[in-house]
Amino acid sequence: MNATPDIVAAAQGRTGGCLCGKIRFTVKGEAVYPHTCSCKHCKKLGGGPMMWWAGFAPENVTWTNGVEPTWYTTFEGEAQRGFCPDCGSRLAAIDSDVPELGIVVTALDDTSGADLVPVNQSFRDDAVAWLDQVPDTTEKSPVG
Ligand SMILES: [Zn+2]
Ligand SMILES: [Zn+2]
Repeated sequence: MNATPDIVAAAQGRTGGCLCGKIRFTVKGEAVYPHTCSCKHCKKLGGGPMMWWAGFAPENVTWTNGVEPTWYTTFEGEAQRGFCPDCGSRLAAIDSDVPELGIVVTALDDTSGADLVPVNQSFRDDAVAWLDQVPDTTEKSPVG
């Protein structure tokens, strides 16, 4: 893939954080497998019909206020979801079968990057009927 100006800018770093500002972070590098998810957990935790995720290498994510999200275990030993304990904003996810740290794209200050556009939607069977689903533009979809 050629490096577009968008993606070059993204590689230099993006900022994000929770609504109250207690937790701030930077991410570097191109987003991996941006997608939406309409699973039951994303609906309960996210407060909407789906959440919007993108992966970043864990070493490229920095919690810049020195405060990490509070981690809630959704599946023991498999998945954790990170949120701000003060304002409740959803920020991140750790999944044992995915090498990247999942970042909630809406936690970023600028969500306009070309590499953030969802390429697929997970858990289509759990999606609400009244909202169009994200088309699958991947050749071979990862599980999840
Ligand atoms: Zn907060
Ligand atoms: Zn989900």
